[in-house]
Amino acid sequence: MAVIGIDLGTTNSLVSCWKNGEAVLIPNSLGSVLTPSAVSVSQEEILVGDAAKQRLLTHGNETAVSFKCFMGTKKKYQLGSQIFTPIELSALVLKKLKQDAQEYLNEPIEEAIITVPAYFNDRQRTDTKLAAKIAGLKVERLINEPSAAALAYQTEQKKEEAVLLVIDFGGGTLDISLVECFDNVIEIEAVTGDNHLGGDDIDALIYTDFIGRHPELSALDAAGIAGLKTTLIQAKCALGSHEEYVFSYTYGEITIEDCIGQEQLLELGLPVLERMRYLCGKAVHDGQCSIDEIDDVVMVGGSSNLGFVQKFIEELFGKPPIVMANIDEVVARGAGIYAGIRMRAEDIKDRMMTDVCPFTLGTNVVWGQEDERPHLCVILERNCPLPFSKTIRLLPVYDYQDMMRIGVYQGEEYYVDENVCLGELVIPIRPRPVEKGEGVCVTFSYDINGVLQVEAENSMKEVVRKLIANDALSEKEIEESLRRFEQMKLPDAEEEEYQLLLAKLMWLFQQQIGDTRIQTGMVVERLTRARESNKHHLYQKEREFSQWYLVQTSMTLNPFASKLLLEEEDDD
Ligand code: ADP
Ligand code: MG
Repeated sequence: MAVIGIDLGTTNSLVSCWKNGEAVLIPNSLGSVLTPSAVSVSQEEILVGDAAKQRLLTHGNETAVSFKCFMGTKKKYQLGSQIFTPIELSALVLKKLKQDAQEYLNEPIEEAIITVPAYFNDRQRTDTKLAAKIAGLKVERLINEPSAAALAYQTEQKKEEAVLLVIDFGGGTLDISLVECFDNVIEIEAVTGDNHLGGDDIDALIYTDFIGRHPELSALDAAGIAGLKTTLIQAKCALGSHEEYVFSYTYGEITIEDCIGQEQLLELGLPVLERMRYLCGKAVHDGQCSIDEIDDVVMVGGSSNLGFVQKFIEELFGKPPIVMANIDEVVARGAGIYAGIRMRAEDIKDRMMTDVCPFTLGTNVVWGQEDERPHLCVILERNCPLPFSKTIRLLPVYDYQDMMRIGVYQGEEYYVDENVCLGELVIPIRPRPVEKGEGVCVTFSYDINGVLQVEAENSMKEVVRKLIANDALSEKEIEESLRRFEQMKLPDAEEEEYQLLLAKLMWLFQQQIGDTRIQTGMVVERLTRARESNKHHLYQKEREFSQWYLVQTSMTLNPFASKLLLEEEDDD
């Protein structure tokens, strides 16, 4: 039975496996290794990936993206008439990746290694495992994204001994790990990061700046705003590490020529960079290492492409960062290598990777007074190696206390209420005068996936145990999701291609005016009729015609919009 590695990204997801002594990325049904983490509902049909992403432009209300940022929350998404949780949307992406991998490998897949941001908390990790379960995948191990990147770097560069600082700067998250490699072991020393810092923040800064400099755009409608945002993101990506990039934005009567450059971005992006500087320092400090001891600073994640970010890191560490080739694929390759280790592939089975817990965990205690504001009693220190377990003894605080409430908190703040509450355990104790009060033994255990279990035992040897897991969904809701997903079928490759084509035509229709618009409408009508006719040859003819039409017509659109269409065409 094959094991696959999955990078479940905010923007894009990838799937890989271990084959012939290396990690291989698996292409999706449209032939691309990047599957956008997007879900769209079109007339009860569920689309995942490219077609869904394309529909974001025309059917924003029926489409969800960036839902990874809301894992661990109770947010709900209404797409058309259906309601989804972030867990279910992630499950749909996983289901699609699994389906594509099965098609490619031609064998059933049951197990996956999934990467998560190092800074994902307990709830977000259990949500990820739940999403996998709903998608029909067993997850034996979650690994931290920067750890996966380190594994890929070490394996591919054959680094025997090195201290690495791995920075994963993606769309919505920044993850930093300090890693030590020796012999066959990769030891993660410290991880830190920010779940809400990434390319999206840079996009927002660029957008605000652009709007500010172009007051003529103040009355832009929703479609115009969506188009402008896409244009600006495209310009940012085209800029990458070049000095400057010239682009234009057209909407209706308005055409704006503008330019984007590293210096301007450096200024705009300063708040983001400052936060990055702080977090890099924290990783080095927590890993108890000095800047000189770092052999390589390795950068992965899409936002690492930006020249001003690379320059900032170079100034910080006194050496240029190593930006790995195909940076958006590195984490997935690491997951694929780990899948090889899991399958005990001959060439890699002796490798080991140890990971750490990113947060401090503890419980609520008072110094002596019942009415005191409780503070955090640290049980597991941040960056303790996984798996890890520790027991402490807690005593009652008032006379004849008959139970103890043991809160489970995560965070670094002194006052317990300023940390994240993960749950609570209640255990009875024998009522006694306080000076004769009997204690409770509390054990916090972190498993290898960074999932926490808490156990309390009183003097009567009664034990209360709790997996500090998900409370976003009840058992009943999980059952319902599972049932719903069993019946849900994702479209096959042909249907997917059709939906993508249709979404592109719809988008074209919105861009155009006058006769050309009517023409596009007719092409849509012909294509959908052919598809519904169930006459294969007729559909093939119309499909080819539509593709040709898209290429021809987009030449006459604004140069940037046509570039967008053509680029997507290349991917297929
Ligand atoms: P995630 O893992 O969080 O899904 P990725 O690592 O795929 O994210 O990075 C996506 C982010 O990288 C997006 O914000 C995107 O705009 C940005 N990005 C991708 N390519 C480039 C590029 N060439 N230059 C600058 N930013 C880029
Ligand atoms: Mg990523």
